[in-house]
Amino acid sequence: MSNDDFTPQIFYACPDCDLLVSSASLKAGHSLCCPRCGRRLARRVRGTETKALATSLSGLLLFFPALLLPLLQLDAFGFKDSANLLESILHLFEMKYYFVALAVSFSAAILPLLTLLFSFAVSFNLFFHRRSRWTGSLFRAWLQLTDWAMLDVYLLGILVSIIKMLPIAHIEYLAGFFCFIALVLLVLGTSAVIDRDMFWLKIDALSPGAPVPLLFKESMGETAAEHDIFLCHTCHKLLNKSWSGKPCPRCGSIVHRRKPQSNSRTTVLVTSAVLLLFPANLLPIMKVDFLGSAQNSTILDGIIYFFHSGSYFVGAVILCASILVPVFKVIGLSILLLCHSLPEASLRRKTKMYRFITFIGRWSMLDIFVISLMAAMVDFGFVSTTWAAPGCTWFCIVVTLTMTAAETFDPRTMWDRTLFLPSSHSS
Ligand SMILES: [Zn+2]
Ligand SMILES: [Zn+2]
Repeated sequence: MSNDDFTPQIFYACPDCDLLVSSASLKAGHSLCCPRCGRRLARRVRGTETKALATSLSGLLLFFPALLLPLLQLDAFGFKDSANLLESILHLFEMKYYFVALAVSFSAAILPLLTLLFSFAVSFNLFFHRRSRWTGSLFRAWLQLTDWAMLDVYLLGILVSIIKMLPIAHIEYLAGFFCFIALVLLVLGTSAVIDRDMFWLKIDALSPGAPVPLLFKESMGETAAEHDIFLCHTCHKLLNKSWSGKPCPRCGSIVHRRKPQSNSRTTVLVTSAVLLLFPANLLPIMKVDFLGSAQNSTILDGIIYFFHSGSYFVGAVILCASILVPVFKVIGLSILLLCHSLPEASLRRKTKMYRFITFIGRWSMLDIFVISLMAAMVDFGFVSTTWAAPGCTWFCIVVTLTMTAAETFDPRTMWDRTLFLPSSHSS
């Protein structure tokens, strides 16, 4: 069955500004963007399930070699040391940094594996037209977890660690390193080839009991709220208000007009993140023992070290990921929470800023991944050993809080205020 056998969804509601947008049939390679805030609502990919099946299956085949084969071998001071991804995680557990160890295990191993398994299972069912009541739930899980799987950030962490260790050690690139690069490309490829809208349409087509698409008469520039239409936060299905508070018939997420208690939850998370930024930046994040003398370094010390040693690019990358991104996220989300009755151009800018915040959030994990790798690899007995330090845990909590805050915030509440509609409630 080809993509053209389906009548595409007739209406979209923008998840960022709530505008109703009617669509003509989209051709492969074309995208539909919201005319009011610029959010991409759909993007057609030709043969999406075939491509997703190929990339996710290849990713699954490479996953365990990338996890278990040694990435790099360091040769310094007469010692040789190598580590794989799994050892870098286990080392954090051994050092009793349990929160950091769990965050790294989920973001760099468990969630990438689950997202590959889910995308494989869903694309397999769609490719072979297999009816399964789990397909919708698996695709929902893939959508919810995919941003938390951070293999691409981990790869940048490996590259930063290499540049950091180049002056002190001879580095040999092992099979795990190349498997890991290929795995990252396949995971990114899977995400790029999945046409989310088409996947849902095909899942609907395979579900005999799926509700028919909602039909209504829409005028230009009207919002879903003005028509009492609810948008499922996860699968973006349009539903009438009788579904309020009930599980979405397509993906099972609870349907709300807006994300529940969006502003108050985001405020609590942002405030907690601001408070924890202090211990995260003031406490040492890494400890290095060199010839018996221990040296603790904070995030800022690490950045200064790179600039002093002439590694301006790496210094700038860590400065952005570890200091500018978290600070920008908490300031940006605070501005969004305080935004009231603004002209449309300003709301459009703020909605774009929100999308930028959700995009950059995960890159803050970079320093944590660098430390986990350095701690696993730089273990040259009495000569030099690298350890994680307490700031690491606080920083990891800050990243988790700001990412969750960006997810709980509902940008439509900003647009609601200009329309004088009640916002931020769950019915
Ligand atoms: Zn929009
Ligand atoms: Zn749904």
